[in-house]
Amino acid sequence: RERTFIMIKPDGVHRALVGKIIKRFENKGLKLVALKFIWGKEDMFKKHYADLSNRKFFPHLVKYMCRGPVVPMVWEGLHAVEISRVLLGQTCSEECEPGTIRGDFSIQGNRNHPMGRNVIHGSDSVESAKREIDLWFTKDEVV
Ligand code: ATP
Ligand code: MG
Repeated sequence: RERTFIMIKPDGVHRALVGKIIKRFENKGLKLVALKFIWGKEDMFKKHYADLSNRKFFPHLVKYMCRGPVVPMVWEGLHAVEISRVLLGQTCSEECEPGTIRGDFSIQGNRNHPMGRNVIHGSDSVESAKREIDLWFTKDEVV
């Protein structure tokens, strides 16, 4: 069965959305197989978002992710990666539709945070899911 890596970002935790977000994944029928609550360190987010390291917004992204605790999770189920991306909604505020997590809970887009604060992260492919799960969890932390 497929697994995906999901992380509630600091703004999601700060705004007390943890329960609501978990409920959406449970309602969908995905199975929770790992979860923790941690204050991530800078080097972890640099690794996590390594693909974006040459982008102009990268330092801002890393700083944003370090601002407070996050909730990394692993969810399992048929097409878990793609289904989770649908639950999340688009990256960008104008594009994420009502009914999605980002569409319902986030409105970004000001000069300081063009599209930064979007509540939640989800792996964009099965390969990145594997990489991200290994980065954030040890083998025995995933059931
Ligand atoms: P995530 O990987 O966090 O699930 P995503 O896959 O939808 O988001 P990515 O392109 O991987 O989008 O970007 C990762 C994160 O970097 C975005 O969620 C957002 O917080 C931030 N980001 C992306 N593009 C920009 C941008 N142009 N300006 C500012 N921040 C951005
Ligand atoms: Mg991404």
